[in-house]
Amino acid sequence: MNETPKDLARRPAWPTSVSRPVVTPIQPSVVYSSPDPDGLDAQYKDGSGFTYAREGHPNASVLAEKIDGLEGVGGGIITGSGMSAVGAVFLGVLKAGDHVIGADQLYGRTLRLMTEDLPKFGVETTLADPTDANAIAAAIQPNTRMIVVEVVSNPTIRIADMDGIAALCKERGILLMVDNTFTTPRSYLPFEHGADIVIHSVTKLLAGHSDATLGYAVARDPELMTKINVANVTWGLTPSPFDCWLAERGMQSFELRYDRAEATATALSAALAGLAGITKVLHPSRPDHPDHNRAAQVLGNRPGNMMSFEVAGGRAAANALTRAAPDLPFAPTLGDVGTTLSHPASSSHRALTEEGRATLGMSEGFFRVSVGLEDPELLIRELTHAIAESQKA
Ligand SMILES: *Cc1c(COP(=O)(O)O)cnc(C)c1O
Repeated sequence: MNETPKDLARRPAWPTSVSRPVVTPIQPSVVYSSPDPDGLDAQYKDGSGFTYAREGHPNASVLAEKIDGLEGVGGGIITGSGMSAVGAVFLGVLKAGDHVIGADQLYGRTLRLMTEDLPKFGVETTLADPTDANAIAAAIQPNTRMIVVEVVSNPTIRIADMDGIAALCKERGILLMVDNTFTTPRSYLPFEHGADIVIHSVTKLLAGHSDATLGYAVARDPELMTKINVANVTWGLTPSPFDCWLAERGMQSFELRYDRAEATATALSAALAGLAGITKVLHPSRPDHPDHNRAAQVLGNRPGNMMSFEVAGGRAAANALTRAAPDLPFAPTLGDVGTTLSHPASSSHRALTEEGRATLGMSEGFFRVSVGLEDPELLIRELTHAIAESQKA
C-alpha cells in the first residue's frame, strides 16, 4: 500500500540533484517560506534572500546582474517596463519643490511625465535642447535637482553634448540621468562620462525579440539606489519572472545582434543616400550627419542600429513606400530581431502640428528604421524597391 498521503494542496518537495540545470530556471513563486521568525528577521535586516516577488525574485536578480556587467556598475534593478524605470527614478529621487531639466526630444512618454505628471506632484520641469550645453545651462535654476537626457534623439538621430552636460552637472551639483536605450552600453557607457543614474527600456535592444516589456535602473550612489529600489517595490513597478527569463535569454546574443544590426545600418544608410527621391539620410556613421564630429567623439565608431530617412512626395509617397515593403513590419517599436519601419508624423509625433514637425525636420516623407538582423543585401534591395515605388505615387 502507498503510505504517501494524497493531498493535492501540498506542494511536493523539489527533487534534489547533484547536477545543475544549464539553462536559467524560471522561478514564478510569489512567496518564499522562511525557516522560522528569527530567520525571517535576519533576512529583512541584511536584505538577503527572497521573501515576496514584488520585493525581488531570482529571475530579476540574474537579469539585473547581466545589465550591471555591461554598464560597469553594481546594484541595478529590473522594473516592469522602461517607463517604470523612469518612474522609479523620479519617485525615488525627486520631491515637491525640485526642478528637473529634460532634453526636448526625449521619448514621448518620458516627455509626458515631465510636462504633465511631475508638475502635479509639485516638481517643476523645463525642456531644453541637449545638443547645446548653453541651452541646458540657461535652464538651470537654484532648485534644479536632475537633468534627463538620451544620447541619441528619437527619431531625429541628433547627438547630445554629453560631455558639456556632464560638466555642468558636476559643477552645479546636479544629478545626470541618462536613458541609454538607443545607444546601449555597446555604443556609450554613461558612468564613464559622469552620469549618476542610468535607465534602459530592456524591452528594446537588450531583450531584443519584442516579446518582453521590462526596464532597468541603476544609480552610482548606493543611497540613491536604495531610494529608487524602495520606490520600485512600494509603487509596485516590479517585473514578471517570465519576462525577466525571456530577456535574460535574449541578452545572451545581445552583442552579436547589436554588432550585426549596426553594420547593416551603416551599409543601408550609405546605400539609400544616393537614391532618387531620397532627400535625407540620418545615421551617425554618415559624414553629412549634422553632428558628425560629435557622433565620433561621443559614440566612437559605434553608430548603432537606428537611422532615419526622408523621401520626397509627402504622405502619398509614404503610403506607397510602406505598401511596397510588406515584409518590413510598419510598427512603432525598435530593437527587434527584424527591421521595423516607423512613421513619426502618423505615430509618435502625430500630436504636433505640421509646422511643429517641420521645425524638427520631420515631414510626411520621414521614416525611422530600426535595423534588424536580416541579410543586409536583401534588406537594401527591399528598401531600394520600396523607395522607387514611393516616387511613382
Ligand atoms: C521604449 C522606450 C522607453 C520606454 O520603454 P517601455 O519599455 O516601452 O516602457 C523609454 N525610453 C526610450 C528611449 C525608449 O525607446
